[in-house]
Amino acid sequence: MFIEIEDLKPEPLRVHHVFQATEIGFSHEDTALAEPVTADFTLEHKGSDLRIKGTVETAIRFRCCRCNKECDRNIAAGFALSYLPQPEWAGDNAEVELKYEDMDVAFYDGIAFDVNLMVLEQIELAIPMKLVCREDCKGLCYRCGADLNEGSCSCTGETADPRLSALLQFRKKSDK
Ligand SMILES: [Zn+2]
Ligand SMILES: [Zn+2]
Repeated sequence: MFIEIEDLKPEPLRVHHVFQATEIGFSHEDTALAEPVTADFTLEHKGSDLRIKGTVETAIRFRCCRCNKECDRNIAAGFALSYLPQPEWAGDNAEVELKYEDMDVAFYDGIAFDVNLMVLEQIELAIPMKLVCREDCKGLCYRCGADLNEGSCSCTGETADPRLSALLQFRKKSDK
């Protein structure tokens, strides 16, 4: 979905669009879209300088990094961004671009605004670093593979914390 800048009216443009997963072209190492993406935003402009405010909502599907269970999680992101026409000097000057990134300023070609790209970026920013089914997921027993969320296994006296388990495993190896 592109918005042609020369078609913009003086008053703010309100956009509500539901992107099907195939339409938006989401690709991510660890997750897939579990639902269509709903984008709601208002676009104001001064010439080709754009100000965009809105929300993006969807759900992602992933495997819990502790227990490996497949789960879905809702993702919602609110954003307020400025998009400016790409200045000629910005192309080769990474330092300058970085400075602007801090200010939530991004660049586009000044002719047509790529809505899909903005929506994809917002989804990616909203994906948590640690993909767990729930905050207190106990994970799998490192010895027998039992799902410790469903009760403790018979490997008694062992800790359920995967970080500690890894440490203990390391200690046991070095004890030998
Ligand atoms: Zn889990
Ligand atoms: Zn066990």
